[in-house]
Amino acid sequence: MAIKNHILGFPRIGARRELKFALENYWSKKITLHDLLVVGKTIRHNNWKYQVDCGLDYVTVGDFAWYDHVLNVSMMINNVPKRHQIEDESKLNLDTLFRIARGSIVIDKNCSASEMTKWFDTNYHYIVPELSCDQNFYFAWKAILEETDEALSLGYTVKPVLLGPLTYLWLGKVKGISFNKLDLLEKILPIYKEVLTKLSRRNIEWIQIDEPILVLDIPTQWKKAFLGVYKELKNNKIKILLSTYFGDIHSNIDIINKLSIDGLHIDLVAGKYDICQLHNYFNEKFLLSLGIVNGRNIWKTDLLKWYTKLKLFSKVKRIFWISTSCSLLHVPLDISLEENLTDFVKSWFSFGMQKCLEISILSRVLNKKLNIKEIHRWIKPIDAYKSSNIVNNIVVQKRVLQISSDHMQRKNDFTIRSAIQKKKLNLPILPTTTIGSFPQTIEIRQLRLDYKNKKISQSDYENSLKIHIKNNIIQQEKLGLDVLVHGEPERNDMVEYFSEYLEGFVFTQYGWVQSYGSRCVKPPIIVGDISRITPITVMWSKFAQSLTNKPVKAMLTGPVTILCWSFPREDIPKERIAQQIALALRDEVSDLENSGIDVIQIDEPALREGLPLRKFYWDNYLSWAVKAFKLCSSGVKDSTQIHTHMCYCEFNDIMPAIVDLDADVITIETSRSDMDLLEFFKTFKYPNDIGPGVYDIHSPNIPTINWIEKLLIKAVEYIPVQQLWVNPDCGLKTRNWMETLLALQNMIQATKNIRKKILKK
Ligand code: GLN
Ligand code: ZN
Repeated sequence: MAIKNHILGFPRIGARRELKFALENYWSKKITLHDLLVVGKTIRHNNWKYQVDCGLDYVTVGDFAWYDHVLNVSMMINNVPKRHQIEDESKLNLDTLFRIARGSIVIDKNCSASEMTKWFDTNYHYIVPELSCDQNFYFAWKAILEETDEALSLGYTVKPVLLGPLTYLWLGKVKGISFNKLDLLEKILPIYKEVLTKLSRRNIEWIQIDEPILVLDIPTQWKKAFLGVYKELKNNKIKILLSTYFGDIHSNIDIINKLSIDGLHIDLVAGKYDICQLHNYFNEKFLLSLGIVNGRNIWKTDLLKWYTKLKLFSKVKRIFWISTSCSLLHVPLDISLEENLTDFVKSWFSFGMQKCLEISILSRVLNKKLNIKEIHRWIKPIDAYKSSNIVNNIVVQKRVLQISSDHMQRKNDFTIRSAIQKKKLNLPILPTTTIGSFPQTIEIRQLRLDYKNKKISQSDYENSLKIHIKNNIIQQEKLGLDVLVHGEPERNDMVEYFSEYLEGFVFTQYGWVQSYGSRCVKPPIIVGDISRITPITVMWSKFAQSLTNKPVKAMLTGPVTILCWSFPREDIPKERIAQQIALALRDEVSDLENSGIDVIQIDEPALREGLPLRKFYWDNYLSWAVKAFKLCSSGVKDSTQIHTHMCYCEFNDIMPAIVDLDADVITIETSRSDMDLLEFFKTFKYPNDIGPGVYDIHSPNIPTINWIEKLLIKAVEYIPVQQLWVNPDCGLKTRNWMETLLALQNMIQATKNIRKKILKK
């Protein structure tokens, strides 16, 4: 039996981010709906054609999304929150979809967008379904059928893909009256059934249903629900390929083996499976789709290794397909577009299109339709890679070996340090500060662009930046902030900026990956040992400090965040990469200290994001992540104050690790949850200083003095006032100056009022 091949999904943004630009032009009314639809259609057609041209047996349809694939399901089942519905809209349309994703100011004020959050452990964000028990569910948005027909009419063998009902509900959030999310199954399953029936009337053999929650430790009730759901969905005319990814399914295998499905996709890259045991492990009735090409990283697949393994596996005479580990949504589209990378470096990578080719080559060789030489020709010259001086830096390797626990420990503990710092910095109680960035105006962006395009000289660029920094300092002094920042005008992105000054990274021109909606990111690629070429931030911080007598806080991006937001190399463990980045940053910290900077903030917004999906692996991760932070921050004198900042996350469950960081001050996001986090500090005594964000910088609303005072009063109840700082909950780069000044003015006035009250007591 021939081995078939397919992918779980293709990038949908277009080779030149066509979808992004079309969406943004449509939203700003520069193009019509018709123009937008044409762009979407063209992307889909190109994607399908490519899959066929490179020899995939099925064209995957339904992976396209105007904004997000979870939102697609919300639309499909009419799960449109009331505030996004318009009376005179008889049918759901694209504008409904965009209202859910982006909110709307047209209808009324209360039409805020639905929440967005991270898709499992990736950097993709989905629109969180809002679940309420009185929703009128029905098959409303028929894109899945339309796109299937579109592909069928082009003559393709189509495999539609749908996000499964259980994963959909798992990812949703209950709104209004509380109820068990599983209660909604009886309302949404009929819609899934209807879709399956309608698809089965078309010329379709397989449908892929994604249930990635099967890689998590799910509660028994949810496990059991799988049995009922897939029994219900069983349709004699269409086969179900249940797909799992981002990990292994060992913890749910008992249930999975009992499901009424025809095929099972497993992720052999993120999941630990013994290929020799696969046959015994899974229900023999299941066709197995083996995800062997990494959909999460950009390195070429070792096809020879897989050829040998699969050859062995094929001896057990079980029908199997080969595929990508997960959707290719998480990798860029085409390495061949890159003009700035050498052919040698390019030869190491496979982007989405090349990954399809890998699958095709491997299956054709296994099916004896292609000579094995093609595999040898394809694979990366691993020896050349390993011995390359782009990869190896002996000095760094030696330094890593010399890391000892002394490097990860401040000289004295916090109580001693804190007293010394208080004396040196001479700060009032409730010191005020900000998180680092000040408004990134059009002028600043243009300046950086002009410099990048060599339209202005380095000295003109630097002088202009200095003007912005000077203005930031003047504004902060006028406001009366206690610890100032230079404002980060030189930074485009907090990871890209640093990696450009570090050896061991390469950068693409077109390596865009969808982050959410029309937003894409271009993660740097870690190819080798990492070292610092030159001081990175010292000049700016030193300049800012020269303008004022108040302490200026320097800003660095931490090792875990740099690692999490890049494509990592795979020949050494992540822990080692983190150590290398930490050593490079340790040098930066030391240079900052030596140039007269007394306060240094090391941002780690990705610390929590990097957490493995299963709790079992948390301790190991947290242990090396914390060590990396301490390695870069512990080499300073007692008098140097180390800050860290984290945002977008729940901290309660990793609080012990946060304490272990031993930062002198942590500033965290709390304002969006009305300082719910503070409750936690009733019982948990955080030992060092802490600045719970007192207002939400993501919103243009100006917080009132009264509101901030209330929050501070609440904060003082839970955290000793000597340990409390006052600050916004994140950087101010997305706000304009007007909003920034008004909000900070109120923050400072509120702080002054509270200080007075406290001193009176
Ligand atoms: N220092 C960064 C800033 O102020 C922090 C950004 C972040 O937390 N994501 O912009
Ligand atoms: Zn933040």
